[in-house]
Amino acid sequence: MKSIHRVAIANRGEVAVRIIRACEELGLETVLLHSDADIDSRAYRLATKTICIGPAPTAQSYLNISANIDAALASGADAIHPGFGFLSENADFAQACEDAGLIFIGPSVEAIRTLGDKMTFKALAKKANLPLIPGYEGSDQSVETLVAEAEKIGFPVIVKAAAGGGGRGMKLLTSSSEAKDLIESAQRESLSAFGSEKVFLEKYLGHAKHIEFQIFGDSTGHVVHLFDRECSVQRRHQKIIEEATSPSLTDELRRQMAEVACTIATLGKYKNAGTVEFLLQDNKFYLLEVNTRLQVEHPVTEEVVGVDLVKMQILTAANNFVFGNKDIRIPKGHAIECRVYAEDPFMNGMPSTGKIGTQIWPEGPRRRYEYGFDEGDTITAHYDPMIAKVIVWDENRPRAIQKMIRTLKDCVIFGVHTNIPYLIEILDHPDFRDGSMTTRFIEKHFSEGLQKSEENLKWAPQVYKKYLEVSSSGGHHQSSISSPWQFSWRGI
Ligand code: ADP
Repeated sequence: MKSIHRVAIANRGEVAVRIIRACEELGLETVLLHSDADIDSRAYRLATKTICIGPAPTAQSYLNISANIDAALASGADAIHPGFGFLSENADFAQACEDAGLIFIGPSVEAIRTLGDKMTFKALAKKANLPLIPGYEGSDQSVETLVAEAEKIGFPVIVKAAAGGGGRGMKLLTSSSEAKDLIESAQRESLSAFGSEKVFLEKYLGHAKHIEFQIFGDSTGHVVHLFDRECSVQRRHQKIIEEATSPSLTDELRRQMAEVACTIATLGKYKNAGTVEFLLQDNKFYLLEVNTRLQVEHPVTEEVVGVDLVKMQILTAANNFVFGNKDIRIPKGHAIECRVYAEDPFMNGMPSTGKIGTQIWPEGPRRRYEYGFDEGDTITAHYDPMIAKVIVWDENRPRAIQKMIRTLKDCVIFGVHTNIPYLIEILDHPDFRDGSMTTRFIEKHFSEGLQKSEENLKWAPQVYKKYLEVSSSGGHHQSSISSPWQFSWRGI
């Protein structure tokens, strides 16, 4: 296998920056394959080289396989890192890389096809007698059959797009009478969003927790797990806050789930970083799916286990990473990640776009920031509104929660609204603090986003004062924006 000297990055935003950093530390050059809407971004400034692969719409740039491959080849890259989202779990893209003689930094095409596809994954798990959520994933897709199967499973039932992902393409069926219409609408939506109308059914678990295991297959195919994360804080099935390790597992449950995670990964001949997702309800766990890529929330695992997953990915792809016998990891302390979205928390999460003003990411031991934009960059409506991730580590969960709240209160982002006030309220909720939250936590307690109140606005003046001190001391660029309140970061 050829060695890696230059890595093309088929992604954008904070994950592109994360990959650039890992490459730099390994002494590798980087080429950012970007759309013409992403010229104002940190990754664009940090990459060794940049190549525009198309206009803003993702179909014409970040999801365009040949544009990415052609640009990577033209740049002289030896490998491509797909990040997460976009083409990261696309087996055709991995195959196209292989065909073009480029190393795909991720699992093999075969492993993506087997484990990344929800249907073949379930078939494999079933064959191996691994615990799956009761459901139906048969080839008979007539509505009559699907309704009859839903009745057999027993309502509530969730209908999902076989080719879906990112929390999209799911509908909840609560009775026979509404099932037909909802299944038909799920099929239509699935066809338009994912190019296939195939759906499947699962028993809906109404008070479950989302627990996942980081798995990693080294260059020899030896699969280990790097412990678990809990991602039960979700809005519309999308994660907002993640932590490692889960506060909900006993040692015995953790051991059993880890064993299942490693078994399925080994059966799928997994190499590189991946995640095995589970739902846990009433102390019983069920396999949900495998994500055949780096996960957004990978930093919390890195913090508690003490690894660099992106470097491990690159080294594994270069056939240069083998777990030794002494590499058994024991997680230490507790890490939390909050996803920072450009949205208005007081307007039920309405996306917020605009030019980023002054940002302050407050320094401190074991506070980590992964962000994709600098002052003066523009947040557009073209892409996912996640603009940054804040990660903290502390010796135990209560202290990590306190630290995250303090850290978020000290973060300053002018120019766009962010969900920071919302995150703080969630972290402070008794159900989050005691670790009892389920995937319906947001629906139950924050169904209308955040209400403006004295309580959740009270720390604002302190941040404003800090902003003034910093800019008048000349310690930070004065924003081109004259009044920060005009561009309040928290929707006041
Ligand atoms: P995607 O691939 O779109 O991310 P997943 O199947 O991984 O979809 O599910 C995402 C989230 O949706 C889960 O974390 C959970 O909150 C919810 N969910 C999925 N399946 C079920 C189910 N059978 N019962 C209850 N909640 C579910």
